[in-house]
Amino acid sequence: MDAAVGGEELAGLAARLPPHWIKEMLQPPRVDDLDLGVPRIEPPAALAGICTTEPSARAGHTYGKSYRDVMRALAGDLPNPPDLVAFPRTEADVVDVLDWAGGAGIAVIRYGGGSSVVGGVEYRGGGHPGVVSLDLSGLDQVLEVDAVSRAARIQGGVLGPALVRQFAGHGLTPRHMSELASESLALFRRASSSPRWAGGWPPGPVAITPCAVRISTISWSPFGW
Ligand SMILES: Cc1cc2nc3c(=O)[nH]c(=O)nc-3n(C[C@H](O)[C@H](O)[C@H](O)COP(=O)(O)OP(=O)(O)OC[C@H]3O[C@@H](n4cnc5c(N)ncnc54)[C@H](O)[C@@H]3O)c2cc1C
Repeated sequence: MDAAVGGEELAGLAARLPPHWIKEMLQPPRVDDLDLGVPRIEPPAALAGICTTEPSARAGHTYGKSYRDVMRALAGDLPNPPDLVAFPRTEADVVDVLDWAGGAGIAVIRYGGGSSVVGGVEYRGGGHPGVVSLDLSGLDQVLEVDAVSRAARIQGGVLGPALVRQFAGHGLTPRHMSELASESLALFRRASSSPRWAGGWPPGPVAITPCAVRISTISWSPFGW
C-alpha cells in the first residue's frame, strides 16, 4: 500500500475543496488491522530468501491503482491477497518460482509497477491452493543496447525512470516517456500496440521472454529530439 497523505498536507488539501464535498474523512487502515488471513502456502527452502509473507507486501500486491482499487484498499477490503510475494533477482529465480508453483497448482500473478487500472495484478480466480505475486522489480537492468539498430534487451521489471536513467548512459532516451514512476515494461510493451499511443509508436511485434524483454522494433531517440 502506498504511504498515505496525512497531517498538515491532508488538512491543506481538504481545505481547498468545497466543504460540502467532504462528509467524512476516511483514515487509511493500519496494515496490522487488515484481515489478510493466514498464508496458505510456504515456499520451498531454496526460494525462502526471495519470498515474503509480510502483511504489508501481501496487502500492497493485492490490487492495482484504479479508483476502485484505491477505494477497496482504503476500506480495508482485501479478501484475496496473495499468500506470498516473490522478488526474483535473476531469470533462474523466475524459472524456479514458476516450476514450484506450476507443480503445486499455485496461481502466479506477474507484477511490474502495480499500476494496472484493469485488475491486471489482482487475483480473481478460484480454486487455487495458493496465490503468488511475482514482483519483477528486482529485474531492472538494461542488458544490451545496439546503438546501430537502436534495439535493446531489457529485463522485464524495470520502471520508467530507471529505464530513462540507464538509457541516458548510452545517449538515448525511450521514445515513449512514461507518465508514471510505477509503470514498468508491462506498459511499454502494451503501449506499442495501443491506439492511445498510436501517434508515438511505430507498429510492430514485440517478443517477450519471462524476464528479459527484447524490443526489436522500437526505436530510441537521442536526447533533444
Ligand atoms: C493515474 C494513472 C494514469 C494512467 N494513465 C494512463 C494513460 O494515460 N494511458 C495508458 O495507456 N495507461 C494509463 N494508465 C495505466 C498504465 O498504463 C498501467 O499502469 C500500466 O499498463 C501498467 O504497467 P505496470 O508496469 O505497472 O504493470 P502492472 O500493473 O504491474 O501489470 C499490468 C499487467 O501486466 C502484467 N505484467 C507485469 N509485468 C509483466 C512482464 N514483465 N511480462 C508480462 N506481463 C507482465 C501483469 O500481470 C498485469 O496483468 C494509468 C494508470 C494510472 C494509475
